[in-house]
Amino acid sequence: MASKTLGFTQYLVVIVVVPVVVVVVVVVVVVVVVVVVVVVTSSCSSPNSSVVFVVVVRDDDDDDDDDEEEEEEEEEEEERRELQRKDWVTLNRARAKVGKTASTLHKWKLRPNSECPCGNQNQTMDHILSECTEEPHCTDQDLRGCTDAAQAWITHWRDKI
Ligand SMILES: [Zn+2]
Repeated sequence: MASKTLGFTQYLVVIVVVPVVVVVVVVVVVVVVVVVVVVVTSSCSSPNSSVVFVVVVRDDDDDDDDDEEEEEEEEEEEERRELQRKDWVTLNRARAKVGKTASTLHKWKLRPNSECPCGNQNQTMDHILSECTEEPHCTDQDLRGCTDAAQAWITHWRDKI
């Protein structure tokens, strides 16, 4: 009886316990090897690579949308500032009558003639402020007071003079 029980126990050990132990040992060895390889490669090739990875993974989360929104807001703010600056430059050019009109560009030999697209032979600042048939007009007084007429005129001309 005893030898039969012992035989059954040995059988059990050989069939069940040994393979389980072997599998556990193999898994542990594989995990240890993988951990060692990861640690060695990350410390040898680039000490910051694991940090970079963490940052990249974080960027895939909600932060991504926030960053995009922030970038868009910054771009809009930059655009607004640029427009304000252009408006200001245009206003001052009109007040000083020194804009890059066809007449001025012709004088600087940057244009073959000083014609205005409206047909006038001499596109001066005074012409585009008060005479030109195609554009909104405004007076020197409008420019000094920066009235709605001056703003409409600036909006039209800010990219052209
Ligand atoms: Zn004209």
